[in-house]
Amino acid sequence: MKAEHYVGGVFRSDGPGFPLVNPVDGTELGTVPEATREVVDDAVTAARAALKAEWGARGAEERAAALRRIADGIQARFEEFVEAEVADTGRPRAFAETVDVPRAAGNFRAYADLLYGRPERAYTTRVPGWSSGTGEALNYTVRRPLGVVAIISPWNLPLLLSTWKIAPALACGNAVVLKPSEETPSTATLLAQVVDNAGLPDGAFNLVHGHGAGAAGEFLTGHAGVDAIAFTGESATGAAIMRNAADHVTPVSFELGGKNPALVFADADLDAAVDGTVRSSFTHSGQICLCTERVYVERPVFEEFVQKLAARAKELDGYGPMISAEHRDKVLSYYRLAREEGATVVTGGGAPTFGDARDGGFHVEPTVLTGLPETARTVREEIFGPVCHVAPFDTEDEALALANDSPYGLASTVWTTDLSRAHRVAPRIETGIVWVNCWNLRDLRTPFGGVKASGIGREGGEYSLDFFSEPVNVCIQI
Ligand code: NAD
Repeated sequence: MKAEHYVGGVFRSDGPGFPLVNPVDGTELGTVPEATREVVDDAVTAARAALKAEWGARGAEERAAALRRIADGIQARFEEFVEAEVADTGRPRAFAETVDVPRAAGNFRAYADLLYGRPERAYTTRVPGWSSGTGEALNYTVRRPLGVVAIISPWNLPLLLSTWKIAPALACGNAVVLKPSEETPSTATLLAQVVDNAGLPDGAFNLVHGHGAGAAGEFLTGHAGVDAIAFTGESATGAAIMRNAADHVTPVSFELGGKNPALVFADADLDAAVDGTVRSSFTHSGQICLCTERVYVERPVFEEFVQKLAARAKELDGYGPMISAEHRDKVLSYYRLAREEGATVVTGGGAPTFGDARDGGFHVEPTVLTGLPETARTVREEIFGPVCHVAPFDTEDEALALANDSPYGLASTVWTTDLSRAHRVAPRIETGIVWVNCWNLRDLRTPFGGVKASGIGREGGEYSLDFFSEPVNVCIQI
């Protein structure tokens, strides 16, 4: 798979190259072109031109049809997408087959569907006390595109997360410039080929590859020609992008990091809670923003839960590597830090050896920790690896206080069979998403995003359509 930029309907690979590394065995997969400021300028200019030309003139029905053709195009090249995502990320093939690629096609279908039946908001004003002016009026709100939207996506779910933003941005009639993560450029390139064949006008969708700070990402998010930025990635990167975007007061939608808690009450179905926590802590080796890194268990079932979770973690096989040597080293540095901070390593805590080519890759062991104080850095900072710390609690209020004592607030899980408790606890957890007796069960119409350092705004369904369009109120005196 050769990574290329896609600018104004033309594939190009100018700019210096950097190596793409296979995280499974450390071998080189190819070279990726690094977009210069000039390539980024060209992409923004092409996007602006598309808005002024054919793309800007297309109605909702035509845009929805284009989204469906993109979804069909992904489906038609399903195998190629799976292979490219597996090669870039090292994730298990089954994950790409059941999550990444179907969800990418689903993202385009969902927003094609959502374009229909979108309510216009209309009010008639009869000059009640709080109105100003006189007479009767009809107010209605129309929505128009924001313009050129920059999308910056991370490496952990490359295709799924970029299409999660591209689809609603195009649905609302914007032109898009995507900069995917430098670690995972391949499925974005395939997507550009699919878009090229789907009959979108040149410039409606553009792709530039490259790094973030001091490079393509920074050039794009600080560009005067960009009207909005949708970003998924680390909270610190979000802060850097905000600073960069501040000069142009560019609106942002941010999906950022997390340190997600799980609360396991003694009345829970313990096996279901263990099973759910194995999934929520170790899926994709913990490299999903929604993964659980803090588990709080009611004291009577604490020991049993820890033993069962550790036994399951130990058995895990084929869970996939860390994305890069750098990220592997970061996760291992937290395993060392945990020991220094006084943790008991119940299982894992190191890097596995396989005795084959995988020893050149970036693998770490699924790890269960206990015994740390809540002030420990291991308990407070996002690690983004297959690791969780499990701590006991005694009361519901204590559980809530522990869950909420975090700079982050993305997602949480609650395990209980007590219906009243579920309803009492869920709204009091300071996260944007609360799952009860499940994890990562998603309906694409629901609001998705985090509070505190985990994000700004919500995406999903109407929430995305709201961010990616501008409401304009029309008031007519009648
Ligand atoms: P990252 O912040 O390092 O990089 C994300 C993207 O930002 C990449 O494309 C990168 O090139 C670009 N970038 C980096 N610095 C930049 C800068 N100064 N200006 C512009 N662009 C810049 O994140 P990552 O390591 O790729 O992804 C992992 C992180 O993403 C974790 O923190 C995870 O929790 C978070 N995440 C959040 C969600 C969510 O929905 N909330 C989903 C997935 C991942």
